[in-house]
Amino acid sequence: MKLAGLLILCLALVARAEAPPVAIRDPQAPAVRELVDLAKLDAGLRFDLRYATPDNFTKTTLYPVAKAYLHHTAAEAVVQAQRELAKEGLGLKVFDAYRPLAVQWTMWKLIHDDRYVSDPRINAGRHTRGTAIDLTLVDREGRELLMPTPFDDFTERAHRDAKGIAPEAARNAKKLEKVMQKYGFIPYPFEWWHFDFRDWKKHPPLDVPLEQLP
Ligand SMILES: [Zn+2]
Repeated sequence: MKLAGLLILCLALVARAEAPPVAIRDPQAPAVRELVDLAKLDAGLRFDLRYATPDNFTKTTLYPVAKAYLHHTAAEAVVQAQRELAKEGLGLKVFDAYRPLAVQWTMWKLIHDDRYVSDPRINAGRHTRGTAIDLTLVDREGRELLMPTPFDDFTERAHRDAKGIAPEAARNAKKLEKVMQKYGFIPYPFEWWHFDFRDWKKHPPLDVPLEQLP
C-alpha cells in the first residue's frame, strides 16, 4: 500500500509539473486593469518594440500592436528613472514590457533555454506579469549608448558578469543597472537589458492579448 501511495504522489507531482500555468485571461480582471500604457505617461520614454516587428530573434512579428504595458507601480518607477537620467541628457528606450503568456509559449518553443526565455511550465514567465521590462540607455537625440551586446543577444557576453567587455559598454550597462535598481528593479543576471520589479513574483501571469488592452 505504501508503495502505491508513493506512486500516486509521484504521478500527481509529474502532472502538476506539466500542467499549463493558470493565467488571467479576462481583460476586465483587476490585475489586468492595473496595467498602464507606457507611451501614455508623457515621460519622454522612447520605444523600439521589437516583437511588434520581424526584427527580433524569432524573425516573426509576435505582437499585433506596438504597445508597452506595465503594472502602474513598476511604470511609475520607470518614469522616475527616466527623470533622473534626463538631468544628464540621457533617457530610456524600451524594447519590451508586458508579454501575453501565449507569446511566452511561442518564444519558449523557439529558444528552449531558460537563461534567456522563461520556461512557462515553471513560472509562467516574467514579462507575463507586467512587472518586467527590457530597455537600454539613449542620449538626447535618442541614439542608443554602447552596450555589451545588442538586445536579445543570447550569449554569455550579455551576462552581467561577462568578462572582456569594452570599458565604455560595461560602464553604460552599469549605469542602467544602478538607476533601475535605485527605483526598485532587480537586474536579471543573464541579460543586461532585463529588469524585474521588486515584487514581481506576487503578480499573477496574464494572458490577455495586447490588442485587448486599453
Ligand atoms: Zn526581458
